[in-house]
Amino acid sequence: MEATIAENLRAVKARIAAEAEACGRAASAVRLVAVSKTHDADTIAQALEAGHRAFGENRVQEAAAKWPELKRRYPGVDLHLIGPLQSNKAKEAVELFDTIHSLDRPKLAEALVRLRDEGHALPRLLVQVNTGCEPQKAGVLPTEADAFLARCKAEWKLEVAGLMCIPPVGQEPSPHFALLRKIAARHGLAELSMGMSDDYPVAVSLGATLVRVGSAIFGARPPVG
Ligand SMILES: *Cc1c(COP(=O)(O)O)cnc(C)c1O
Repeated sequence: MEATIAENLRAVKARIAAEAEACGRAASAVRLVAVSKTHDADTIAQALEAGHRAFGENRVQEAAAKWPELKRRYPGVDLHLIGPLQSNKAKEAVELFDTIHSLDRPKLAEALVRLRDEGHALPRLLVQVNTGCEPQKAGVLPTEADAFLARCKAEWKLEVAGLMCIPPVGQEPSPHFALLRKIAARHGLAELSMGMSDDYPVAVSLGATLVRVGSAIFGARPPVG
């Protein structure tokens, strides 16, 4: 018999706690963001019924279709945008999400500043770093991260809570996690969003405070089409 979503959640949380404790961290220092992209509201409701409240989506449009109703039914939802954000969707994102993991360019920073100036409360912001320097991937390059973080602070007065990375597929993830941690430490940033279904235990051992886990909770996603 297939494990249920509630069982998967319990197993992932237990693994996070075990990894954290093994390296002397409190289990509560790591938050599990259940990545619900592509899954429908009924599937997501199973995780909400199990008491889980932190979720990640990678597309604003998809999240806007699913989450307002789920938020009404389940108070206390903590919603994370983990995919790239176009500046023209910034307003919708700011209204829907509690944390944005993908701040990665001046144009988006400036769109957020405009929204703040109009009176919007901004979500918590993480800067995405393209640790593998992959041309197709979002994120600031590691060599540009210091300058970008400095502009966020000095020029845009944006409070950045931490950093996010997605290591290249098929590569050993630990050097990428270690690099992200090093950049965060240099800037005194507390949050590290790193680790997915295949590598969240090693991410926890390298300091992750947010792990983004999808398929280990909800099962394999249907192919993107
Ligand atoms: C889809 C996705 C995840 C979750 O991936 P799984 O391998 O299913 O755990 C994590 N982070 C980002 C940015 C994603 O797009």
